[in-house]
Amino acid sequence: MSKGTIGVTTNNIFPVIKKFLYSDHEIFLRELVSNAVDATQKLKTLQGAGDFKGSTEGLTVNIAVDKEAGTLTVSDRGIGMTAEEIDKYINQIAFSGAEEFLEKYKDTANAIIGHFGLGFYSAFMVAKKVEIRTLSWQEGAKAVSWTCDGSPEFEMEECDKAERGTDIILTLDDDEKEFLETARIEGLLKKYCRFLPVPIIFGKEQEWKDGKYQDTDKDKVINDVEPLWSRMPADLKDEDYLKFYHAIEPMQDDPLFWIHLNVDYPFTLTGILYFPKIKNNLDIRKDRIQLYCNQVYVTDSVEGVVPDWLMLLQGVIDSPDIPLNVSRSYLQSDRAVKKISTYITKKVAARLEEIAKNQPDEFEKKWNDIKIFIEYGMLSDEKFCDSGLKFALLENTDGKYFKIEDYRKLIEGEQTDKEGNLICLYATDKEAQYAYIKAATDRGYDVLLMNGELDVHFASMLEQKQEKMRFVRVDSDVLDNLIRKQDENKPQFTPEQQEIAQTLFKSQIPPVEKAEFMVTFAAMSPEDKPVVIVQAEYMRRMKEMARFQPGMSFYGEMPDMYSMVLNTKHPLVQKIVDLAEKALDAEIKPVNEDINATQNVINALRDLKKDNKELPEDKKKDLEDNEKHLDELRQKKENLITAYAAGESRVHQLIDIALLSNNMLKGEGLDRFLKRSIGLLK
Ligand code: ADP
Repeated sequence: MSKGTIGVTTNNIFPVIKKFLYSDHEIFLRELVSNAVDATQKLKTLQGAGDFKGSTEGLTVNIAVDKEAGTLTVSDRGIGMTAEEIDKYINQIAFSGAEEFLEKYKDTANAIIGHFGLGFYSAFMVAKKVEIRTLSWQEGAKAVSWTCDGSPEFEMEECDKAERGTDIILTLDDDEKEFLETARIEGLLKKYCRFLPVPIIFGKEQEWKDGKYQDTDKDKVINDVEPLWSRMPADLKDEDYLKFYHAIEPMQDDPLFWIHLNVDYPFTLTGILYFPKIKNNLDIRKDRIQLYCNQVYVTDSVEGVVPDWLMLLQGVIDSPDIPLNVSRSYLQSDRAVKKISTYITKKVAARLEEIAKNQPDEFEKKWNDIKIFIEYGMLSDEKFCDSGLKFALLENTDGKYFKIEDYRKLIEGEQTDKEGNLICLYATDKEAQYAYIKAATDRGYDVLLMNGELDVHFASMLEQKQEKMRFVRVDSDVLDNLIRKQDENKPQFTPEQQEIAQTLFKSQIPPVEKAEFMVTFAAMSPEDKPVVIVQAEYMRRMKEMARFQPGMSFYGEMPDMYSMVLNTKHPLVQKIVDLAEKALDAEIKPVNEDINATQNVINALRDLKKDNKELPEDKKKDLEDNEKHLDELRQKKENLITAYAAGESRVHQLIDIALLSNNMLKGEGLDRFLKRSIGLLK
């Protein structure tokens, strides 16, 4: 028997391990099982090279718990270790200055594991005593037992062990007894070891017998030793991919598409990524891609490895070239990882392009489901955006799909404005904006349907990327102004008529929640509607963009500004304004005269001010009085018009019809409209 001290420079590495690795202590099992798998694989390698002459058939890794003894054992029939090897690999921890090292990496203590030969030592996170019993494959080797109780001292001696391989026996700490629970261990094995390449056995298969579950003779294999991603794409069918998907994502609908990744130069990476069918936004979770390293589960947080926008995908990635257990910031700056991320993006783009080209019908059918991924990708990744422009689709209100290039060609003739801009009209709601869509299509325009979460952002992006392409919602202006082909028709009202019309209508608009209106004019055709409500494109976009931007929510809080546009060519509007002008003439005339006179006085006084800057006191007072008087006169005029408007039911009726066609007439206002309409039938 020999005694010794473990070769690290500090005496107290174990408490440090326990402390820093506490949060993740369950990974000890992954580390020990991985070592056992490695030892098994190494034996197969030796056999392949002709060094090992025995059989490697049926090798397994076995896990067992003994509740009474308080132990958990991981056994393999791999290469085993000689006393010298234990000394070299276990006793001499492969670095110096452990304390300094741990200090430096204390936030990412996991970094120590695996990379620096501490994998095995992670056993001390949960065990008060660890024993290794091992017999090397080498001829004439003697079985060795190594024991350590968590202090840097260990004992090593020869022992009886007939079978080649290694048993790692942990006597668990009193507060780690959870690792004696079958369900806990099975859960961990399923999490970390589900796809390891050597069968992992834990207990027996059970069967229902004599009214209860009982163990059978059959070993229970936890893992699938040949997961789908490790096989050749050419050997696989759609069913295989679907089956695998449902195995890793049990609660999901069939995926839309998948991509089998398979490279071995300049880095090794395999995996399968699925585009899930997203039922609603609650479904969007970003931790759906699992990262493996040679079939050992590492994490489901792949930030940095997979570009952010692809985190919406599901599936697995397996690469020994991704540095494991290192901090996120390190990952993101790692060159190999950057290459991997670029590669994945390229593969995804190529696959989508291929489907769009070879199965256009399929692609169209699924477009609405995948568009969120593609738009998100194009918005956040410059390179992907360039590829995306080739296959992204636009859908119109008739449910037809177009590639961007084709759509340009389709609308070029009708929808180019006088400045040469290509104007894409769009609607966000086919029902609510029906009247506007109809008016536009009647004129021979095409209207896109852009009702997706990211569509408005996507449109802004296209405007930047595509030359002279503009997106305008159908209800953002009157039809003539949406695509201006000539200079605007001047509204035909005189300034006085405009003033009357403005007050006439503005004063009678009922309160609409979160909306404000201004009254404007447009000389449309007499056949067009007399009054329409529009919301300027830039206003709405600003608000919509603000919804997604932190700190901009005050935009979202602001009421929406709408224009109530009076069609100055419509006979009804003309009639209403004419009648008002005549009816109010006698009363307004003197007010107007007074306004003009007062305005003249004010102008004269202001002129004085210009010359000698400071007005004398009496003039100052004079100016103030006149300004006040002018305000009063204007108010008076407004009151006169408002009083008249209150009795002009045609104004109310026109306003209500316009509100109604925008879904803005509700409650009391709607009730009043209905009653008034019935009254009109009499
Ligand atoms: P790593 O596995 O990262 O090298 P470990 O601390 O887990 O670090 O293991 C150190 C070494 O001990 C391994 O590289 C291997 O040579 C040896 N070893 C550990 N477990 C076993 C085992 N079950 N069978 C044979 N050798 C083992």
